[in-house]
Amino acid sequence: MKSLRQFMEELSMVTIVMIGGPGSGKSTYSKYISGHFDIPHIYTGDMMRDLQKRDPEVAKIMDRGDLVPIEKVMKALKDRLGKDDTDNGYILDGFPRNMKQLTRMKQENIDYKYVVYLNVSEKEVIKRLTARGRKDDKPEIIKNRLKVYEKETGPVVNEFRKSQRRFIEIKAEGKDEKSIAADIIGEIEKRG
Ligand code: ADP
Repeated sequence: MKSLRQFMEELSMVTIVMIGGPGSGKSTYSKYISGHFDIPHIYTGDMMRDLQKRDPEVAKIMDRGDLVPIEKVMKALKDRLGKDDTDNGYILDGFPRNMKQLTRMKQENIDYKYVVYLNVSEKEVIKRLTARGRKDDKPEIIKNRLKVYEKETGPVVNEFRKSQRRFIEIKAEGKDEKSIAADIIGEIEKRG
């Protein structure tokens, strides 16, 4: 059983899931939130890009814009969550990305208090990704990542929306970055 101290500690943790399509600005806003609440930004995209250098199977998958196998993602994620700096909370950027990952998240008791969903129109996403020029930001791969997002991550967004947790939907376009970041932080603090 949890001790009262453990329980109090968990209550004060700020645990956030950032969710949204490719180019929605998840990592940009995660950095603001991470700085504001002093919690680590746990970014599976960067973790997988790192793994890609050492793992040819992962490299092939990512070059197509497809999702990395769940066991590899879970291993990297659990190692990262095991570090001491997650005591105050964390922000998960890029996980869970499909229903299977959401199920595993629950099984492994990876907690979250807030879900921040960044809603951006497809037109704006294509504009942003084309301008960004990351290795996997080529038109064909972008199209595939968008397709994967809709099919795999769309149902996860619907699940979160229905859940009892604090679901924060933000229209992440048409305003400058700093004001959108301030909107998100304001919503989180408002909900307590
Ligand atoms: P974006 O949000 O622009 O798609 P990310 O940096 O979040 O970019 O992810 C880049 C790639 O990393 C994805 O296309 C996928 O191949 C891999 N990846 C990231 N997170 C996950 C995850 N949770 N499960 C499986 N693959 C992932």
